[in-house]
Amino acid sequence: MKMRRPLAINEVINNQQLREVFLCAPQGGMRRSIRTNSLTLISDKTKLYDDRVVGNIYHYTGMGQSGDQKMSGQNLTLAESNQNGVEIHFFEVMKPKEYTYRGRVVLAGEPYKAQQKDQNGKQRLVWIFPLRLKDSNATFTKLSTATDDEKELQEEFQDIKQVESLTIKQTEKERLIKARIGQGTFKKLLIQRECKCALCGVTDPRILIASHIKPWSISANEERLDVHNGLLLCPNHDVLFDKQLISFTTDGQIAISHTVDEKARIFMNVNDKMRIALTERQRSYMQDHYNNLV
Ligand SMILES: [Zn+2]
Repeated sequence: MKMRRPLAINEVINNQQLREVFLCAPQGGMRRSIRTNSLTLISDKTKLYDDRVVGNIYHYTGMGQSGDQKMSGQNLTLAESNQNGVEIHFFEVMKPKEYTYRGRVVLAGEPYKAQQKDQNGKQRLVWIFPLRLKDSNATFTKLSTATDDEKELQEEFQDIKQVESLTIKQTEKERLIKARIGQGTFKKLLIQRECKCALCGVTDPRILIASHIKPWSISANEERLDVHNGLLLCPNHDVLFDKQLISFTTDGQIAISHTVDEKARIFMNVNDKMRIALTERQRSYMQDHYNNLV
């Protein structure tokens, strides 16, 4: 037996109706019904969620509220849903007690493991299921909550900002802040995008440094958190960039300060033919940097 009556995409029903259509349990985020051979997934936006939508794929966190999640029960049913014939139906809850039907979903890839915090704030292992809607007219609601990386970055930057209130010399503060940014989450995000020095071939993550194009000290908070305001460089190129001895035009052509002599250029590995690829948003940050070339 299939669902008891068809639902229209984006139809809003209550919990009682949901139970009647699928003959499933009255609560839970993953509700299995043997009688209608279905698994109903509920994404409740009114609760704290680590789920996220990337492109058209919904990355759905499996079942199990605390401790490591196991690949059993409903999680296993979902993992095998491309073979076991169980229909997967997807609902979003934007307001309490209102279940919006987004239609059937299928697994878009293999389930994978991730680290998330459980309800007690303890790190644990979860299963994530990449899901795609079957009906091309249906869409998932993009979640506005920050991703894990963004949250981590914000927490880290709050930490770094405390350095500003220390009673030490300004130059010392700047050195500490640069060191922290250069090696933390901001760097991790830049490595995910670029994976090598923007100017040369250095790829070793142990020595790559994440720099802000517009310096931390004069950036607004959102500019400090913006990866487009970042540039991944090797130590030599970082120090030249940081001291405004090299910069880049908006089309990525290098500009080298006339104060850098021929010998330094050779040993620091810079020459007038070098260029880098800049994104549209990097360009606007670079403009100011370029104007301040020594
Ligand atoms: Zn380099």
